[in-house]
Amino acid sequence: MELMPDFDLHRPTDVEEAVRLRAETEGALYVAGGTDMIVNVRRGIEQPAALIDLSSVKELQEIVEDDDGLHIGAAVTLEILAGDTRVQESFTAVAEAATAVAGPTHQSYGTVGGNLCLDTRCLFYNQSEWWRKSNDYCMKERGDICHVAPGGKRCFAAFSGDVAPAALVHKAEVDLVSATGRRRVSLADIYRNDGMNHLAIEPGELLAVLHLPKAESGQPSTYEKARVRGSIDFPLAGAAVWLNQSGDKIEELRIALTAVNPYPHLVKNLDKFSGVKLDDNVLNEIAEMVQSQAKPMRTTTVKPWYRRRVVGAIARRLTAKLSQAS
Ligand code: SF4
Repeated sequence: MELMPDFDLHRPTDVEEAVRLRAETEGALYVAGGTDMIVNVRRGIEQPAALIDLSSVKELQEIVEDDDGLHIGAAVTLEILAGDTRVQESFTAVAEAATAVAGPTHQSYGTVGGNLCLDTRCLFYNQSEWWRKSNDYCMKERGDICHVAPGGKRCFAAFSGDVAPAALVHKAEVDLVSATGRRRVSLADIYRNDGMNHLAIEPGELLAVLHLPKAESGQPSTYEKARVRGSIDFPLAGAAVWLNQSGDKIEELRIALTAVNPYPHLVKNLDKFSGVKLDDNVLNEIAEMVQSQAKPMRTTTVKPWYRRRVVGAIARRLTAKLSQAS
């Protein structure tokens, strides 16, 4: 780990000031908890001219409830998110995902916005400066090759946030704010399948609020991930499941994956199970469908084939669990 480099630090007190500073300051980055960002800065992966610290922006630290649902400020910590009884009861997967991020210390600093906007991760990228330099860097940072898929032009670094898949199965939306205005978009729309540039957010835009719609709060949901060290690690594979069941038949099933693609992936074609009795054969089909859409690459020390099998098994188990609980 390198020493902390020099950079300017700004501490705005409202969102308008934050986005104005970002627009006026070339090479600036937003930071809140900094649990991932500061590590990347000290490793030389991020080289910001300035950091815009969001921890004094009150609007970003509130959870507001109204008739439409819960509106969670981006600087709300994962600890507060996980402990909120409204989240636990109505958006269970989201609370479980927040509890699953790293360890308790990280959760007390790490934020909702930071976890949703987490940079993609790769064995050949999340390394010290001297390590990356001695390997000629890679396409994602200063280099021109990919060590995972040599000869290819794409980066397969994996999105490894926990909160995003849980929020996706609840059809969450987000507010994006810039110096030119505010827009509200589906959470799914801020991600793209590109490990080098996985956030479809305009330069300078700030993810300010996560909206969890009340209309999506009535059904059970859950989240689970596999990791090397249960007390702290990023996921090797993770899944959130949301199930609406009528008797023993599926009305609607939603599954979202993390750590097995460059973006949090909402599993497609699950509507084929609507109206189908949920038995062991169907659970096996669901696991196979999940496995077929998970595309882990050699971006961790754990083999891709294992992560693909694990994510299918997690999705299967969680679907069975929700079915039994309904
Ligand atoms: Fe670099 Fe390739 Fe890993 Fe992307 S997948 S971070 S380009 S080594």
